[in-house]
Amino acid sequence: MSFKIAVIGAGWYGCHIGLSLSALGFDIKIFERERRPLHRASGNNQFRLHLGFHYARHHGTRQQSRDGFLRFIERYPNLSSPVDRNIYAVPKSDSLIDFTTYKMIMAASGIEFTETTEYEHFLSNVSGAILTKERVLMINQARDYFQESLAGILHLETAVTSMEPLDKHVRVNGELFDYVIDATWGHFLSIPRELYFEPTMLLYYEAMDHHPAVTLVDGSLCSVYPTEDPSIFTLSSVAHTPLGGFTNANQARACINSVDSVLIREKQTAMENQMMRYLPQFCESFQFKGVQLAIKTKPVGMEDDRSCAIYRNDRIFSVLSGKIDTIFYATERILSSLEGSQLFSTPRNVSIRNDIVAASSRQAGARIASSNKKNLAQDA
Ligand SMILES: Cc1cc2nc3c(=O)[nH]c(=O)nc-3n(C[C@H](O)[C@H](O)[C@H](O)COP(=O)(O)OP(=O)(O)OC[C@H]3O[C@@H](n4cnc5c(N)ncnc54)[C@H](O)[C@@H]3O)c2cc1C
Repeated sequence: MSFKIAVIGAGWYGCHIGLSLSALGFDIKIFERERRPLHRASGNNQFRLHLGFHYARHHGTRQQSRDGFLRFIERYPNLSSPVDRNIYAVPKSDSLIDFTTYKMIMAASGIEFTETTEYEHFLSNVSGAILTKERVLMINQARDYFQESLAGILHLETAVTSMEPLDKHVRVNGELFDYVIDATWGHFLSIPRELYFEPTMLLYYEAMDHHPAVTLVDGSLCSVYPTEDPSIFTLSSVAHTPLGGFTNANQARACINSVDSVLIREKQTAMENQMMRYLPQFCESFQFKGVQLAIKTKPVGMEDDRSCAIYRNDRIFSVLSGKIDTIFYATERILSSLEGSQLFSTPRNVSIRNDIVAASSRQAGARIASSNKKNLAQDA
């Protein structure tokens, strides 16, 4: 049985879930408020295809990343590329965990890395470093890919403005669907978990020379990571990238809209100063180009949980995305829940008594005939 499903939002989640379910024969319509896919958080982030190295404090997040990474490069081989030299370094006194503990956690999680001392000449205040195989997401290729492969399914500049759950359907913008998947990262319907909206500012830099990616872990630290253009990097800081925390998405949007040149200058100074503690040559190696603004939806908690979760309320699914590598996890959770619905929607002969052939052939003949009649009625 094929269901008609509305997907709200064409970020990484809406696009991937919509495309996967459409390939399986479901009748999909994706509603996106903006003029292109991957316009919001999905097109404004650090573009890191995570392997788990960022999440020493959350086992589930590391596991999802490790598995999602492999599936991503298999499913979308042209939508990410390797990062030539990708360093994770643990600072001497500013990290929440020491270098040995960090390595033990990553090794125990089955994520491959190589310890390196090759970069000691340009890193300061660091107790150790590893090289990893994390990749960078190709955002423009991804936009083109989804726009092309979702032709006829993706409806741009079409915001969902009304949704009404009915007995056997959900009415979305006046049209009936069997199910709805809210992939707006909590912006349309609220998600049943303690969350907040965090407006963010990343800084864009041009590298003067071929520079490695450097990520300082674990805790309130910073990173510089290439984009799909290997000479353009983003600078991100756990302490300075957030612009606040709000329980309401509209307040977070208002905060983004109020960003001015004074705030940008303050953030630039704070983030560069933080990075220069570990990369003293940062300002000679990179030239400031501008900012990137977005809104993150985050669970409340210190353990840095960025795992993905799916919530279902009758015919409506809500996606709490963590990072982009968990698109596969999200699709599978939705699919298995839909398959459950499919099972329940087929007529069930609940009693084993129906299958017992009666002792007398006369009775058996009569029972089989009546059972066939019943099945024919159900099939019709
Ligand atoms: C600063 C920052 C850095 C990050 N770095 C990384 C990183 O390096 N690697 C990583 O994997 N993840 C990173 N993330 C997280 C990543 O960006 C998100 O997990 C991912 O983009 C979420 O995708 P999504 O599809 O759930 O949401 P979104 O990309 O936000 O998509 C939701 C879509 O819904 C649309 N929408 C909303 N309301 C409606 C409506 N009523 N009708 C129709 N459409 C609607 C929006 O326009 C939007 O396009 C980062 C996030 C931020 C903010």
